[in-house]
Amino acid sequence: MSEPTESRRQRASRRAGEFPPAPEPLPRPVLDSHTHLDITVTEVGVPQGGDAADPVAAAIDVAAAVGVDRLVQVGVDVQSSRWGTEVAGAYPAVVATVALHPNEAPRCRDLDASLREIEALAAEDRVRGIGETGMDFYRTGDEGRAAQEESFRAHIAIAKRYAKTLVIHDRDAHADVLRILDDEGAPETVVLHCFSGDAEFAAECVRRGYLLSFAGTVTFGSAGALREAAALTPLDQILVETDAPYLTPMPHRGRPNASYLIPLTVRALATTTGTDLDDLCAAISATGERAFGPWS
Ligand SMILES: [Zn+2]
Repeated sequence: MSEPTESRRQRASRRAGEFPPAPEPLPRPVLDSHTHLDITVTEVGVPQGGDAADPVAAAIDVAAAVGVDRLVQVGVDVQSSRWGTEVAGAYPAVVATVALHPNEAPRCRDLDASLREIEALAAEDRVRGIGETGMDFYRTGDEGRAAQEESFRAHIAIAKRYAKTLVIHDRDAHADVLRILDDEGAPETVVLHCFSGDAEFAAECVRRGYLLSFAGTVTFGSAGALREAAALTPLDQILVETDAPYLTPMPHRGRPNASYLIPLTVRALATTTGTDLDDLCAAISATGERAFGPWS
């Protein structure tokens, strides 16, 4: 690989300056149900000028200061799943999920071998979920379909074997996701990460007992259908997430995201669902503990 004109470190520190200011703290603690700390600290940097010597601790501290005191670190390939498992073992605020992302599955030279690595990690105590797995035809196109489906089915089986929560990535593939879940039999706890459906799909997921995790997208002006979906989701089936460093909530859309920005999404959800902010925080916290806890 050729050296980029701007080193990775320089780029990271430049982009770190783009992190938005911290929002007003929440009245009660919640969790970030889906974050990519590894991608955030390497691609963007340390939020809020925290200690660069331990960027993970810095990201945790900045989030805890506004009431986001627990994080779920999500794996997308074997390497990030291993990294997340180690970090979850070292930091009490973090638990991990492990998986091959649907965009990753078709790229695996030996899918079975990679799945065996994921399965080995699934047995670890600090690994609380299998994900993100699912279906996404946006980048892989139709050729990726078979490998994605095979991988998704294998992840469902692992989640059931180890009694872990299944974390689903579903990009414009609602019907396929439900078909495969029905076919395999869903694990006891299923999270639709970055829920992106309308009211009708939300009702279908609610009926099946799945948890809907809402990201910063719920704050976007164009997200009327998504807010309708949130409004009909029972309080005990709602989670919130950043998917950091992506999907930064308004009014900071386009800047890097991190767990300390969760309060913006929670406040938007409280308005959308007509729920008292305290009650919403308590519900999200309890649902998070049910799906991924206990943290300590
Ligand atoms: Zn993600």
